[in-house]
Amino acid sequence: MAKQVPIEAVFEAIGRVTYPGYAADIATLGIVEQVTPLPDGGFSVMLRQATARDEVMRTVAERVHHALAHDLGIAKVEMRVRRIDPELGEQTGRVRLEGTKYIVAVASGKGGVGKSTVAANLACALAQLGLSVGLLDADIYGPSIPMMFGTADERPKSAGGQNFYPIEKYGVKLISIGYFLGEKAPVIWRGPMVMGAVRQFLKDTLWGTQDFLIVDLPPGTGDAQLTLAQQVAIDGVLIVTTPQDVAVLDAMRAVKMFRQVHCPLLGVVENMSHFECPDCGERDELFGRGGGDTIAMQEGIGVLGRIPIYPELRGAGDDGMPLVIKSPAHPASAAFLELARRVTAAMAPIEAN
Ligand code: ADP
Repeated sequence: MAKQVPIEAVFEAIGRVTYPGYAADIATLGIVEQVTPLPDGGFSVMLRQATARDEVMRTVAERVHHALAHDLGIAKVEMRVRRIDPELGEQTGRVRLEGTKYIVAVASGKGGVGKSTVAANLACALAQLGLSVGLLDADIYGPSIPMMFGTADERPKSAGGQNFYPIEKYGVKLISIGYFLGEKAPVIWRGPMVMGAVRQFLKDTLWGTQDFLIVDLPPGTGDAQLTLAQQVAIDGVLIVTTPQDVAVLDAMRAVKMFRQVHCPLLGVVENMSHFECPDCGERDELFGRGGGDTIAMQEGIGVLGRIPIYPELRGAGDDGMPLVIKSPAHPASAAFLELARRVTAAMAPIEAN
């Protein structure tokens, strides 16, 4: 009977494998899609094809195989690479935007976990790294981006025909259903109308050329999310969760949903991970601990960021200025900048084709 190597050790070994020509490891770059234990003590590793150059992917697969078979002594290691058609993007029939290099979706299994806070601060952090960024608020049921950017009273200007210009604030181009409905309008839209609206926002907005479009998805894993994920050619998904058990369960459901429709997962962002007492510096894990790690272990994807609870983060959201803009030196802003760097790094191998 072969001895079972713990999956933690497998993740650790994979975490030491670098991408050819890069100092970064392949897990950080988002190339490891899934690690599955096999019944006979072996492991199956699914990689995402990050480049059109097959020889580079072969080298990556060989390195992972060597790390597991040779270094850890695992008898059976299955390597798989999920192929991506470079012409069509990840999926056929999905909207790709001319002029937009990467579309990154921010999703969550349930509401209130800080998905929009992460989307807003990530967009601002990417802009601070010198990248051109758009932010599409697809959270039709509770559009909070206009408020978070202090732009609730603004209205997108028509550019003739169906097209309109996005609102620009803090170096980020913004579009949201909130700009069209007004703050007090009841959102009674049903699934198909939501889909139509988001598709339209995506295509009819004059985004210009941009490095990233961040999409703040509606929370949950219902038909609306599923359809949306299948309509847009998403280059990577971030799943936001709090460490609470229920949030983690919902986040895992979201992970499974995005897998089902072949959207590449970049990783988990654990928000409200803990509270650090400003007076005594003591850590308090209000919502439990290790939620992100649980998902990482069970679903084989990495934790890309951990954002503690900071009262300033809430305040900045309500003031109409994301914290990354308001207090760039704040530790939470540093955490978002690090997240932005990781997201950028995850896209780099695709660019290097
Ligand atoms: P979601 O988009 O998942 O519904 P929001 O981003 O709207 O969640 O966040 C819900 C509330 O929690 C907001 O009031 C927000 O300011 C606050 N919040 C989010 N993340 C944090 C955090 N790390 N620390 C403190 N408050 C936070």
